[in-house]
Amino acid sequence: MRGGIDLGGTKIEAVVVDDEDRVAGKARRPTPRDGGPPAVIRSLAEALREAAASAGVDLARLEGAGLGSPGAIDAGAGTVAHAGNLPDWEEAVPVVAALGEELGIPVALGNDVGVAVDAETAFGAGRPYRSFLGLWWGTGIGGAVVLDRKRWLGGGSAGEIGHVVVKLGGARCPCGRRGCLEAYAGRAAMEAKARHAHKRGEHTRLFELMEARGRERLTSGVWAAALEHDDRLARKLVNRAVEALGAAIASVANVLDLEAIVLAGGLGTRLGTPYAERIAKAMLPHLFFDDRPPPVLVAELGDLAGAVGATLLLDEREAAGS
Ligand SMILES: [Zn+2]
Repeated sequence: MRGGIDLGGTKIEAVVVDDEDRVAGKARRPTPRDGGPPAVIRSLAEALREAAASAGVDLARLEGAGLGSPGAIDAGAGTVAHAGNLPDWEEAVPVVAALGEELGIPVALGNDVGVAVDAETAFGAGRPYRSFLGLWWGTGIGGAVVLDRKRWLGGGSAGEIGHVVVKLGGARCPCGRRGCLEAYAGRAAMEAKARHAHKRGEHTRLFELMEARGRERLTSGVWAAALEHDDRLARKLVNRAVEALGAAIASVANVLDLEAIVLAGGLGTRLGTPYAERIAKAMLPHLFFDDRPPPVLVAELGDLAGAVGATLLLDEREAAGS
């Protein structure tokens, strides 16, 4: 049996899988906001310990654990720097060594979106295809390209579809450049636009729905609720995001002639199939070969994709002979 941990900006998911890759135990806990990397690493260990307990197995008997993390990953050095929106995490932190010491078992490290796409390739929506694009639609927009059933790594950072340009000289992206997909369709950018419109006096229920749920941010659940209430501003901003997604995905599909698109991430999974279909429709005007458009499918492993995918990192380690 082995462990897998998915480190997210708001929560940590851990699983223990058996030798047939079935989930035997799982645990979830919030990502600590205080205490910096040491507190986060302790929580990662606690989550896996809890998952092992729920699987009825002693942690020390696990073959090892994989960790999917946001930020700049150096799998060789076992470090994570600039970990997404985790507080006080800029410098490279030796996560593999620190977590290995906490757990007492070998630890392998990978990119969070990458390992989730590996899980979809092996067990989820990507299974029938030789090639597909995995697109993580959440606070930001991440992605990974699978070619011949293997994730294409490039120099190590391939798949950044969030920074495909959808409008020259367009909106400022969180990355500092202009006109990127993420500047139109990332949840953070959509929220900034909504706050601006709200301040200007545009009517919307987005913020009262947010408060009613005790949230400080426009979460995927808040956007989904606003769409159910047919909120005009929410509809306008989501439509704008869908159009931008359609253009960016179609451009990638034109280059690589992909068989399918797998949609995941907080907004992707929350909005689900109806929106996957709208994205597919938004792609059509931009597809060079529009007689056989690739289907847009919703990821099948949901919240556990990252943690299950992280368990596969141990295979890669073995394959690399480390
Ligand atoms: Zn960008």
